[in-house]
Amino acid sequence: MANKTIFKRIIDGEIPADIVYQDEYSLAFRDVRPQAPVHVLVIPRKEIPSLAHATDDDSELLGRLLITVRKVANQLGLDPTGYRVVINCGRDGGQTVDHLHLHLLAGRGLDWPPG
Ligand code: AMP
Repeated sequence: MANKTIFKRIIDGEIPADIVYQDEYSLAFRDVRPQAPVHVLVIPRKEIPSLAHATDDDSELLGRLLITVRKVANQLGLDPTGYRVVINCGRDGGQTVDHLHLHLLAGRGLDWPPG
């Protein structure tokens, strides 16, 4: 890819992040502009620009990302009160970083529907 995204730079260790979990496939770190008391981003190490770019070959990886969210939520003690998982995709979805990521939001009651 021509220009590295900010998330790829975090993966490559070029810029710091508050990492809460990592494994062979994924990385989880706190969002710099948290929208809830707990706001963690889970990203694949593989560069996939958005959910719209995921292919059948990414099926296992996508499952692993959800399991990573579950592990992080458990690690942060969120199971009793719950949490929300969000994927913004494309312009209308509000995506601003072109590297697939899952938002894990918790620590307060979250409105539905979202804005
Ligand atoms: P989205 O709008 O779904 O693309 O979400 C991108 C998220 O990345 C936003 O919530 C930003 O606050 C967050 N973000 C941007 N740069 C960083 C960074 N360097 N470290 C942590 N989170 C970031």
